[in-house]
Amino acid sequence: MKKPETIAVTAGRPEHTPDASLNPDVQFTSTFRAGGPLGYGRYGNQTWLAVEDAISQLEGGRTLIFSSGMAAINAVFNILPVGAVVTASNQGYSGTMTVLKMLNESGRLEVRFVDVANTSEVIAAIPGTQLLWLESPTNPCLEVADLPTLIKAAKQAGIGVAVDNTFATPLNQNPLAMGADLVMNSVTKFLAGHSDILMGAISTKDDALFTRIETQRKLGGAIAGPMEAWLALRGIRTFAIRVQRGSESALELAKRLSEHPKVSRVRYPGLPTDPQHERAKSFMRGFGAVFSFEVKASGEETERVCNAAKLITNATSLGGVETLWERRRRWPIESEVVPESLIRVSVGIENVEDLWDDIKQALDTI
Ligand SMILES: *Cc1c(COP(=O)(O)O)cnc(C)c1O
Repeated sequence: MKKPETIAVTAGRPEHTPDASLNPDVQFTSTFRAGGPLGYGRYGNQTWLAVEDAISQLEGGRTLIFSSGMAAINAVFNILPVGAVVTASNQGYSGTMTVLKMLNESGRLEVRFVDVANTSEVIAAIPGTQLLWLESPTNPCLEVADLPTLIKAAKQAGIGVAVDNTFATPLNQNPLAMGADLVMNSVTKFLAGHSDILMGAISTKDDALFTRIETQRKLGGAIAGPMEAWLALRGIRTFAIRVQRGSESALELAKRLSEHPKVSRVRYPGLPTDPQHERAKSFMRGFGAVFSFEVKASGEETERVCNAAKLITNATSLGGVETLWERRRRWPIESEVVPESLIRVSVGIENVEDLWDDIKQALDTI
C-alpha cells in the first residue's frame, strides 16, 4: 500500500502512454455516445472518476463525489427508510445538526442525540437504531469520539456506521479501516484546500451501499461540475503537505494561546493538556489543523477580536491555505452548547510567527 503523501501525488493520472497528458482533461459534456458505462452527464464524468480515484485510495474504499459536503450527507440520510432511528452527536457541524433536527421534527427519521465523547452514553443509545452518525473531531468544539470502540460496538449490534472525517482528513484517520460502512469528507475543506470550490465525497467498501448512494446522486442530481472536480484533484496533490504544516502551526498556536491571559480555554486534541489527548493519540496519526479557543470576553468583544485581525481573515469555512477564524455563535443555527466567546481557527500554511503576531495584536484590542 502506498502512503497517503504518495497517493495524493500519483492518483487519478491518465494511463502512462507516450505523450499522454500528466493530468486528466476537464470533460465538459452533458452526454456521451451510447454504449459505454457513463451514458449521461448526471451519471458520470471522466474528471469525476479521476478525483474519486484519489479519495478512494486515500480512504481505502470506493468513492462518489457530490456538489457539496451537505449534498453527500443528505444522500446518506435519503437511503434510510421512513421512520428509521439514527443515533447522532448532539454537537457537530451545524448544517448536519440542523438537517437531523428537521428530519426528526418532520418524522422522516427518529434521531437520538448523544454526547459522542461519552462512549457509554453512545453505546447505551444504539440498540434499535439503523445508523450511527459520527463526526470526530467535532466542528467546532473538537470533541473526540472513541471511533474504534464505537464502530466495533455498532457493528456487533448490526448497526450501520457513517463517519464525517472532514476535520481529521484521511491523512490522520481512516474510519473504513476501523470498520465503518461509510466515510464522508467535505472536499471543500482540506482535500481541495484553496477555498475556491465546494464538493463532498462518500466512500465505502460495500458495493451494495455504493450502488444505493450512486442512485441518490444520479436521481437527486447533486453532482459536481467537471471544472470543480479538476480543481479538487489539483488541490489534493498538495493535501498531505498542507495538512502537516497546518497541524504543526495549530499545535504551536494552541500551546501559546493556552498561556495567554485573555484566553480561558483552548480546544485541540493535539495539546498534551487536552482532556481527550490520550484517546485521540490512541488511534489518530495526527490531530489536524483546526482548533478553537474561548476568549475571556463577551460575544460582542470576541467579534471585535475576529475583526481586528490583519493577516487572518474573519470568515467561515476551513481547510484552505489561508488562516481563517470566526466566532461560531454569530450563526443563528450554531448550537447553544458552543460558547458565545468561542473562536474557531483553521490554520493555513503562512509563517507561524506572523500568525502569532496577528493573534496577539487582535487580542490586545479588547
Ligand atoms: C463544512 C463541513 C461540512 C459541509 O460541507 P460543505 O462542503 O460546506 O457542504 C460537513 N461537515 C463538516 C465537519 C464540515 O466542516
